[in-house]
Amino acid sequence: MEKKIAAVDNVLALIGNTPLVRLNRITESLSGNFYAKVEAFNPGHSAKDRIALHIIEEAERKGILSPGDTIIETTSGNTGFSIAMVSIVKGYKCILAVSSKSSPDKIDMLRSMGANVYVCPAHVSADDPRSYYQVAKRLHKETKGSIYINQYFNELNIDAHYKSTGPEIWEQTNGRITHLIACSGTGGTISGTARYLKEQNAGIRIIGVDAFGSVLKKFHETGELDESEIYPYRIEGLGKNMIPSATDFDVIDKYIKVSDEESAHTARELSRTEGIFAGYTCGAVMQAIKQLDADGEFNENSQVVAIFPDHGSRYMSKIYSDDWMEAQGFLGNKEVEETPKVQM
Ligand code: PMP
Repeated sequence: MEKKIAAVDNVLALIGNTPLVRLNRITESLSGNFYAKVEAFNPGHSAKDRIALHIIEEAERKGILSPGDTIIETTSGNTGFSIAMVSIVKGYKCILAVSSKSSPDKIDMLRSMGANVYVCPAHVSADDPRSYYQVAKRLHKETKGSIYINQYFNELNIDAHYKSTGPEIWEQTNGRITHLIACSGTGGTISGTARYLKEQNAGIRIIGVDAFGSVLKKFHETGELDESEIYPYRIEGLGKNMIPSATDFDVIDKYIKVSDEESAHTARELSRTEGIFAGYTCGAVMQAIKQLDADGEFNENSQVVAIFPDHGSRYMSKIYSDDWMEAQGFLGNKEVEETPKVQM
């Protein structure tokens, strides 16, 4: 067993260089070779550690941040956790405006990491003064010595993945990757990783995963933001109701949409079959792979890399709660098969 034994200066040294893990059982009936880039191995348990560290260190390099300053962000939880973690280690204050759609565990976790959290209504438009975008902007204006990370509109979000996730995947696959499947929220992960990979081999297929209720897929196809595509959905961190500039649509070949229900079941399936305790969007990416396989996207030579953004422990009160699943109408007659109850 390979083990890292050297001591590191602090947890930030452990960001990136996440493992690429072959998927075995869940892919048995699919054609191709499938690997997951498991971002839960970052110290903050998600891919967002990469952008938090990169954006904050770029601000330090430019002399915009001084010790004791404040870092402000809008976040569905993961970015907030990563920023809170980096802030603690580097000695900054952290203010986070989050959507009320975020799971209670995530909000409690952010507060546990010392962040000052503002919970804002999920289903208001981005320009509504109550939205988490507008709240963050106002706090940035009102707080002296603050920076606003603005992950949806920050080119450094793409750059973080261009400089780390992309090269890691290229190296870990020995340049043999044929497909990259990744969620699109801010778009930073897929855009930065794809930009790097396409520079190495323009033939690599890049497929973005979007939610029903989000505008990204249609925008990619038509160049228009169709507001009739917008409606509430449950997956956190996937899809959007506006067009983020941190998404480079040119490096994405196509988008595929996945449902809340199938993604939740597929996340549970990943945990049970691969031993990878999967976050909700890991289920979404895996669900997309199943759909792409059914569409004939892959053949036996395909080397498919899926980015798994975060860890299942963040969804104990959601997809891993039978009560929550049942309340969404997701269990149906799958309940017995999914959750055998131990008799005492
Ligand atoms: N999954 C989860 C759980 C997330 O929090 C995010 C970030 N919004 C994503 C996927 C999508 O990543 P990105 O913002 O880089 O597109």
